[in-house]
Amino acid sequence: MGERLVIIGGDAGGMAAATQARRTSQTLEIVAFERGADTSYSACGIPAVLGGEVFPLGALVAKTPDHFRKMNIDIRTRQLVTAVDFEARTVEVEDLVHRRHYKLGYDLLHFGTGATPARPELPGFDLSHVHGVQTLADAAGVLGFLEGRTLGDVVVVGGGYVGLEMAEAMIRRGARVTVVDASPEVMGTLDPDMGRLVARAMRMHGIAVRNDERVIGIDERAVHTDADGPGSAIPAELVILGLGVRPNAELAAAAGAELGVKGSIVVDRRQETSVEGVYAAGDCCQSIHLVSGRPVHVAVGTVANKMARVAGTNLAGGYATFAGVAGTAATRLCSTEIARTGLGEAEADHAAFDYVVGKVESTTKAGYFPGAEEMIVKLLAEKGSGRVLGAQIVGGPGSAKRIDTVVAALSARMDVDDLIGLDLAYAPFFSTVWDPLQIAARKAREAL
Ligand SMILES: Cc1cc2nc3c(=O)[nH]c(=O)nc-3n(C[C@H](O)[C@H](O)[C@H](O)COP(=O)(O)OP(=O)(O)OC[C@H]3O[C@@H](n4cnc5c(N)ncnc54)[C@H](O)[C@@H]3O)c2cc1C
Repeated sequence: MGERLVIIGGDAGGMAAATQARRTSQTLEIVAFERGADTSYSACGIPAVLGGEVFPLGALVAKTPDHFRKMNIDIRTRQLVTAVDFEARTVEVEDLVHRRHYKLGYDLLHFGTGATPARPELPGFDLSHVHGVQTLADAAGVLGFLEGRTLGDVVVVGGGYVGLEMAEAMIRRGARVTVVDASPEVMGTLDPDMGRLVARAMRMHGIAVRNDERVIGIDERAVHTDADGPGSAIPAELVILGLGVRPNAELAAAAGAELGVKGSIVVDRRQETSVEGVYAAGDCCQSIHLVSGRPVHVAVGTVANKMARVAGTNLAGGYATFAGVAGTAATRLCSTEIARTGLGEAEADHAAFDYVVGKVESTTKAGYFPGAEEMIVKLLAEKGSGRVLGAQIVGGPGSAKRIDTVVAALSARMDVDDLIGLDLAYAPFFSTVWDPLQIAARKAREAL
């Protein structure tokens, strides 16, 4: 046996690293610990299961523990790593099945510990009808609650993409849904003018939206906000949390690893932490923004998998670097699609970019083509250089994945003229002759 690699966390950030390490080295001993029962599951699919679109919950498991065992990866589920010692190179583990503790030595260590839904320390957030939706166990908890019940009032706390997807899921279940968000607009990752379009779509789909209201407590029957008057109590038999996530970095921090943005683990381009031989990937760690060059914490599955692949290669003696994140995300609210990448206005201001905006209302297909729907694109370009800084899209079916063109453009540091000149595909059933992205780029060009 060669060196031993210990991995903490059995989802994307952990197991994609394990898989890549095994591909790179056949001699490395790999032991992976997961506190839950499942490995490599898709949290992204949880809203679809809870909304009844996908069945059963187990369909979200991409790779079972047996899959990894066949790859000669010693995956140990129901094992909670409780402490790490970087000096002694050991991890302490609690076996949650047999209620015993043991230590295991390592040569190389990898954190793929993910993140936990934020749960404010306010009255009632610990009640049994208040659910986060991060793991399959969380999802099973909500399914258990729904079983045999005709849903009445559901409140979703937080209007980010998880909140939105959960609101849609509950609408599909026949519930009356209210989304409460403390900021002036939902979807804080969009600029307020684009967030307003999302709120409009939510209302159109029958979801009540309460902005500028802070939840101050929850009881068995209602969610209480800081709004004035009797409307401050919103009836709720089920409460779902969509308040973002907190990186699970306590173990790494307690052992002495450096933390960065939002308490996430600091890593270099090869995913190595501040401690030699200790790596991290996924929602637990920090990354660098491709456009601003600043450290950010972006908790999405695409990034987790890519980071983990890089970490796995390096852990097994290869060489790989992570390119950074663009802050790309896409989601859906019934028939409305939403996507963003790069910098929004606030982020551009924060990173001291002077910019112009190109915004356009166009359609997803040629205007005359049946099924053409509204598509609104907002594009930011740097003043002077014309460099593409970011874009946001809200529109009908076929809108969201267009963001990938902008991702490629800003990754290649294109300017708006490059984007305008791209030979993008066209047919009336797919787009307008000038794709809405290119029309937005032309508007930005005019502003420049
Ligand atoms: C509802 C929802 C929808 C989403 N939709 C999308 C989407 O559409 N697109 C997208 O890109 N991303 C999406 N995401 C985000 C995506 O799921 C996460 O970014 C991804 O799961 C991160 O993977 P990870 O392995 O870093 O963390 P996690 O998935 O959180 O996994 C970490 C694992 O480590 C285990 N663990 C933690 N600490 C310990 C310990 N001490 N000992 C043992 N085990 C431990 C945990 O049990 C967990 O299984 C969504 C997330 C949610 C919740």
